Amino acid sequence: MTDSDPIAALVELFADAPVAVLTGAGLSTDSGIPDYRGKGTVPRTPMSIRDFMDDSGYRQRFWAGARVGSAHISGIKPNAGHAALARLEAAGRIDGVMTQNVDGLHRRAGSRTVVELHGNGSVIRCTDCGNRWTRNEVLGWFDTLNPGVVERSSEAEIAPDGDARVGDVSDVIVPPCPVCGGILRPDVVYFGETVPPGVFAAAESLLNGAGALLLAGTSLAVNTGVRLMHRAERRGIPVAVINRGPTAADARAAVRIEGGTSEILTALVTELG
Ligand SMILES: [Zn+2]
Repeated sequence: MTDSDPIAALVELFADAPVAVLTGAGLSTDSGIPDYRGKGTVPRTPMSIRDFMDDSGYRQRFWAGARVGSAHISGIKPNAGHAALARLEAAGRIDGVMTQNVDGLHRRAGSRTVVELHGNGSVIRCTDCGNRWTRNEVLGWFDTLNPGVVERSSEAEIAPDGDARVGDVSDVIVPPCPVCGGILRPDVVYFGETVPPGVFAAAESLLNGAGALLLAGTSLAVNTGVRLMHRAERRGIPVAVINRGPTAADARAAVRIEGGTSEILTALVTELG
């Protein structure tokens, strides 16, 4: 820790106005979802949306993996960091949460205003007609089209985030859009894609009403977060960082706390009463 009483320095930022909060993968690691950018983790190539769209075999592997890993995903729960942010919102200390995470855990923890900058992995949309369904609905259609795939893949290797590697998928039938027959995809902003303008505008409006910007569990490796930090700097409001490991905001941060978000945010709630 760089400050003798970093929590007190954090509390000061809440003195005049609500604080805007941006969360990243580090917030969800205590829920068992790995942060592939954090130190000490194995770098992994994120899903290529171009391959997903161009290659039917890639989509077969994706949906078979999603089906086999779905039981694991449903066991993932919000942690103390998510709960602390929901309590800060209920107490009027923050106006909501902006998140780079696609795991939906903020809403499940009770946060009401959540700007999901990179979308939500439990929502599936049609790339042609734009209709949306839940992931579970689409997995139900998958089961009807592919009886026995789950049982056959009981030996599949499942990653901590539920991404499963299923062996032979050559006979897997990928569910098409039930409205237009188009390709269905996760409603997630993948690497190389841009945040929808309306979503970014919602984040900016949270930031515009805030007296400070708190970055929790993000190394700011993603462009969206950097843009929001620059916006905070242009507005002249202080930036605070809670993270394990270095971040792109460290040199600019008024408060910098090295540590886990579950512990620090819980301590913050206690201090703010
Ligand atoms: Zn469609």
